[in-house]
Amino acid sequence: IFKVYAEPVYHGYNKVGTIFVHRDITKQHEVEQMKSELVSTVSHELRTPLSSILGFTELMLHRKLKPEKQEKYLKTIHKEANRLTNLINDFLDLQRMESGGQMYTNESLDIRDLISEVLTRFEAYSEKHTLHFINLAEKTIIQGDSERIQQVITNIISNAIKFSPNGGDITTTLASNSTSLFVSVKDDGLGIPENEMKNLFRKFYRIDNSDRKKIGGTGLGLPICKEIVEAHNGTISVESKENEGSTFIIELPLNDCSQTLKAEGDSPK
Ligand code: ADP
Repeated sequence: IFKVYAEPVYHGYNKVGTIFVHRDITKQHEVEQMKSELVSTVSHELRTPLSSILGFTELMLHRKLKPEKQEKYLKTIHKEANRLTNLINDFLDLQRMESGGQMYTNESLDIRDLISEVLTRFEAYSEKHTLHFINLAEKTIIQGDSERIQQVITNIISNAIKFSPNGGDITTTLASNSTSLFVSVKDDGLGIPENEMKNLFRKFYRIDNSDRKKIGGTGLGLPICKEIVEAHNGTISVESKENEGSTFIIELPLNDCSQTLKAEGDSPK
């Protein structure tokens, strides 16, 4: 983005002309845009869970409630407090990414175990969705940061659940070839309109159509996943059809052919 500034040219005290200076303000524009997106995301995403927590705690403090009602309200409060924690974690990750300060550990890890752990956690509270795991990979060991890779898988499965509001099957498949491991997460939810596909990995980007207005989020999950996967010399891609579902595919180099992590700080955190 260029802005044109008109600057007068003087000879002594006399104005003898005008020069037009083109300044590249792309970076400045990006920073300003990010600031305003941050403010609107924070105000919306903080306000919604906080007002729900305040509302339900007030109800519980001032009314005598049956135990079933109490449990229902407590579950909502717990869910909303979790939402706030996720929001704060996303912002901290964004800040680390922006400052180039993200550190990764570099250990051998079995991605099959990571996926099983993540799925067990989701199974505990997913009522409407059925989670499947298919392992077709012969080799499942990669080199990397297990916490961060778990974060990526958690995020992709959480999105699959979130954007399949009517429930359904979510299938995680692990496959490999001689050099790479592929983790794919398939859902049959809302899908992604074709013209939105290119924007998905942009910071703060959220699809803003009516069927997903009520679904919360920061638009930071996918950019954070991309950053982590690329730091592991991998790629993340998506195939999707609106109203039919989406498949997110993560490719990671297998252990014996992987290079070192791209980020500095291969040493433990
Ligand atoms: P958030 O989930 O916080 O909105 P993300 O960066 O994780 O942000 O995702 C960006 C957008 O991509 C979401 O708002 C959603 O519209 C779309 N999206 C992501 N995953 C899916 C999915 N599995 N199905 C449909 N839409 C998705």
